[in-house]
Amino acid sequence: MSTNNGHISKSKYRGIYQIDPFTLLDFPDHLACILWFAGCNMRCGYCYNPSIVKGKGKISYEEALAFISSRKNLLDGVVFSGGECTLHPGIVELAMAIKEMGMKVKVDTNGSQPESLKSLLGMQAVKYVSLDFKALPAHYYKVTKLNAFAEFSKSLSLLLHSGVQMEVRTTVHSSLFSPVQLYEMAGFLKAAGYKGNYYLQHFVGDTPTLEPLPPSIKKNVSLDFSIDGIDVIWRN
Ligand code: SF4
Repeated sequence: MSTNNGHISKSKYRGIYQIDPFTLLDFPDHLACILWFAGCNMRCGYCYNPSIVKGKGKISYEEALAFISSRKNLLDGVVFSGGECTLHPGIVELAMAIKEMGMKVKVDTNGSQPESLKSLLGMQAVKYVSLDFKALPAHYYKVTKLNAFAEFSKSLSLLLHSGVQMEVRTTVHSSLFSPVQLYEMAGFLKAAGYKGNYYLQHFVGDTPTLEPLPPSIKKNVSLDFSIDGIDVIWRN
């Protein structure tokens, strides 16, 4: 896939499951649409998007670009979410095509594809990255059903050295995380050189998930896991 005269040669590739036309919440300080990329290499039991994770793409890049172009005067950002967008071919060129329209791109990623992320960062195609910190090594597979902690760690390092705006976030189900683990995760980020906000999202079981899960007890949200240099913030 390459950009030629603003056209992308693999623009017929159908990697996108769905487009949400408008969000005020998903891209800080931007009015954005969301491209939901189909498929994921992880199987987090608490995943809120089973139809996207197990589904096939229906919308081509060409169609997505046409939609984005039609909203150029209303929106200033595009979120790549999913599923896992970095698994898809041509997302660098897609991001560049969006950038050429004068819009910013935010990427939501599980961090399992550092080479893809490196390409996005190398082309300066992305303004903001939201990185999922699923768990520490001892629990990573249990949470994701994928041995990808080393790849996550590499993605974190790439982001920290890139200077791109970023955030790290963890979805917390009470059956998967103890307070000690959450303190240790904040400690891992500090040791890696991360500074800033670390967001925790309490699992809310009000929609179908990839696996049936017991209710998550909201027992840790009153605890402050912040450490020097890292503010740990509950989003809900
Ligand atoms: S929550 Fe897990 S399974 Fe669902 S999209 Fe994110 S990484 Fe994939």
